[in-house]
Amino acid sequence: MTARTQELAAVCQAMRAESLVALAIHEGPDGDAVGAAAGMLDLFAKLGVEAHLFVEPGVVLPLAAEFLPPAFVVAGPPPAAATVYALDCGSAARLAVKLGDQRRRTVNIDHHHDNTRFGDLNLVDGAASSTSELVCEIGVGLDLRFSPSAAAALYAGISFDTGHFQHASTSAATFDCCARLVADGADPNRVYRLLYGTRSLASLRLWARAIGGARPAACGRALLALLTAEDFAATGAADEETEGIVDALRSVPGVEVAALSRSHGDGQVKVSLRSEGFDVSAVAGLKGGGGHRQAAGFTTGGTVEEVTQWLSTVLDERLSTASC
Ligand code: AMP
Ligand code: MN
Ligand code: MN
Repeated sequence: MTARTQELAAVCQAMRAESLVALAIHEGPDGDAVGAAAGMLDLFAKLGVEAHLFVEPGVVLPLAAEFLPPAFVVAGPPPAAATVYALDCGSAARLAVKLGDQRRRTVNIDHHHDNTRFGDLNLVDGAASSTSELVCEIGVGLDLRFSPSAAAALYAGISFDTGHFQHASTSAATFDCCARLVADGADPNRVYRLLYGTRSLASLRLWARAIGGARPAACGRALLALLTAEDFAATGAADEETEGIVDALRSVPGVEVAALSRSHGDGQVKVSLRSEGFDVSAVAGLKGGGGHRQAAGFTTGGTVEEVTQWLSTVLDERLSTASC
């Protein structure tokens, strides 16, 4: 039995024994976090267990209109008696809901290689493509099928985290899950159009600003883009519409590390890092962030200019540019 199989069996057993569950996901939720939550809500409904997703007021949930029935989302802290199921979140500090000091039983389901294993029970596999893939496997473990809407949400979560099946994390197990989800009613064409086939003019204008101002660093082995509050105001685009910019920068031949730093004028800068080969989670870790080797991020104080300067210096050192 692999560690993943053992942990999976323990989580399935725990889920069957629950009576009250609070789902939690990482701050700045993405398609995988939302997909995994929708899948878990469906499984708990089928087990007859009361479950809701809890987030801080004001947290934006992407794709929620498609995949998360409003009645299952609560803005505020979860009840003390609920077991917390943390999804797609590498550490307790990153959860999109404040749990307070009270000790709560926690089940941690995630695929970040730097996950701190903060749960009483952990199903953590850094080799899994996504948390949505792990939730799909929980469905198999519980011998439950997904509703068409939950299947579509999980398929979307997998598509989101694999960049539509292009990243190295895409495995045979990923496609096994997707086959099952399509059989349960996920429509690949509809999900593709939802995730990748629509882009607003405001978003394209924001992309143009970011890409137009991108600066090479480390002798061209890194490409660093930045967006200020003024860029967001001038284009009318929202933060979610930055999704994909950093991947476009990474696609330039010779670029091993791409970064997008952005600020909304509140003194906080959010940075997305992507790489080919190089471990960007180690760079993110220097500023208290983390993620995967090839996709990581952090949030820090300062201006986008200062953060980009810092990144440029660190990448100059770490990409060993002595010979150029
Ligand atoms: P993003 O660039 O926001 O799509 O994030 C890429 C990856 O880095 C995701 O797997 C995130 O979970 C992770 N990540 C982003 N920001 C942080 C952070 N502040 N702390 C830890 N991990 C992060
Ligand atoms: Mn995520
Ligand atoms: Mn994920």
